[in-house]
Amino acid sequence: MNCENCLDRPILTHKCGLGTGAGASISVDGKIYACQEMTTNDELFEIGNIYDGENLEKRKKLSSLFNSKKVYGLDNCKGCKFDKICDGACVANNYLWSKDLNRIPDMYCYWQQILLDEAIRICNVLGSEKNE
Ligand code: SF4
Repeated sequence: MNCENCLDRPILTHKCGLGTGAGASISVDGKIYACQEMTTNDELFEIGNIYDGENLEKRKKLSSLFNSKKVYGLDNCKGCKFDKICDGACVANNYLWSKDLNRIPDMYCYWQQILLDEAIRICNVLGSEKNE
């Protein structure tokens, strides 16, 4: 297999892939973007066009930005009990808020904490029931 033409799979396998998988979006002028939320003419997310096809170098660059750093939220996640299970949110939304793929909006971080607390509570309730 010629790996010059390969893209690394996202390290965080539960992530969308941001242009490394089969998903993409096309803007009205024919540009291909790595995410349906990012057909905003932001060059970072542009990975080709319908006339010339994909631009593998741009896809690789975006992929490396995506995978090169840990995602982080409030106070760099210091002391957060969810740091092992938090998925780091949507990288496109992160970028729209902070221009950083890996920096989670504060509001989303709060929401993530509430959601994960509730998910754990529900798991504990279901786990303690017999569910016959
Ligand atoms: S919920 Fe927020 S603080 Fe906690 S790990 Fe996720 S991003 Fe970091």
